[in-house]
Amino acid sequence: MAEKKVIAVLGATGAQGGGLMRAILADRGGEFAARAITRRPDSDKARALADAGAEVVAGDLDDVESLRKAFAGAQGLFAVTNYWELFDPARETQQAKNIARAAKDAGVKHVVWSTFEDPRDRVPLDDDRMPTLMGRHKVPHFESKAEANRTFEELGVPTTYLLTSFYWDNFIHFGLGPARGADGKLAITMPLGDAKMPGIAAADIGPCVLGIFKRGSEMIGKTIGIAGEHVSGAEMAAGISKIAGEEVRYNAVDPDVYRGFGFPGAEDMGNMFQFKRDFEDDYRRARSVEETRKLHPGLMNFGQWLAQYGKRIPIGS
Ligand code: NAP
Repeated sequence: MAEKKVIAVLGATGAQGGGLMRAILADRGGEFAARAITRRPDSDKARALADAGAEVVAGDLDDVESLRKAFAGAQGLFAVTNYWELFDPARETQQAKNIARAAKDAGVKHVVWSTFEDPRDRVPLDDDRMPTLMGRHKVPHFESKAEANRTFEELGVPTTYLLTSFYWDNFIHFGLGPARGADGKLAITMPLGDAKMPGIAAADIGPCVLGIFKRGSEMIGKTIGIAGEHVSGAEMAAGISKIAGEEVRYNAVDPDVYRGFGFPGAEDMGNMFQFKRDFEDDYRRARSVEETRKLHPGLMNFGQWLAQYGKRIPIGS
């Protein structure tokens, strides 16, 4: 049998990269082998990947030399950065530039870079529909990634630009689950109005990325958006109601109200939801469910995600 081509996976202990690790490991007869990159090869999650048959190597996004070593000999690379650990757009952009530099130097043949569109292309900084944050941002955690796209292009790194969607798992892990209001009723709160928002099961991102690697060079230079379904706030609340066993309302607050909630990242997320609401057509058009299903036929819609993971949603007491 021909030797397998190595795909190096950043964020291998996390949601996006972890899903890709599982997808490659499960594809036993497939053409690829998985190499996990982590800051802590001795962590429980990293050990579990090694036990499952993956190569595990050390690498830190802040250290370009460590990335060069971690990428050496790899045919493919999945690249993701974690804004929510940093809350620092400039540092996230620099981490992504480090990835591009190291991928170029290591001669990686195909990079899938998990990025976003730049909301400032539609809402320039002087547009006061939404506040400017940190002096130069509208949606910092989108723009910090988008700003690095240029570096992949300029260095001539063979890259597929992946536009992911809202993980429905945010209802479990990101504090977005239903909360009980002063009236005793449960509600999910998002400033989306009546807009439908592309969403995805976090576990489905990895299999979509594997689908991109399998298609290979035809995907280089392309921007690919992925989603499992486009769902409105009211539809998400109705689905979660069934799991909760009581009515969960959809609280469509104004973006200004959401930005004022005060939790870390509230302004960033308020602007993000407003961007998805105000530019609904463009945002949705960039994330075709039909095209995503071609990459990953087992793709879940919201109802299927709820059936599999809904019981884990914490229901406000
Ligand atoms: P996650 O589950 O929170 O895990 C973070 C991963 O990043 C870990 O595997 C961690 O590896 C790795 N990592 C962080 N800093 C690192 C560093 N300095 N060097 C090497 N590895 C590092 O992450 P995720 O959810 O897959 O991805 C996070 C990104 O997804 C964010 O930037 C966010 O904007 C984006 N996103 C989120 C959503 C959503 O709805 N939540 C939707 C689309 C996109 P080790 O700890 O093992 O080193």
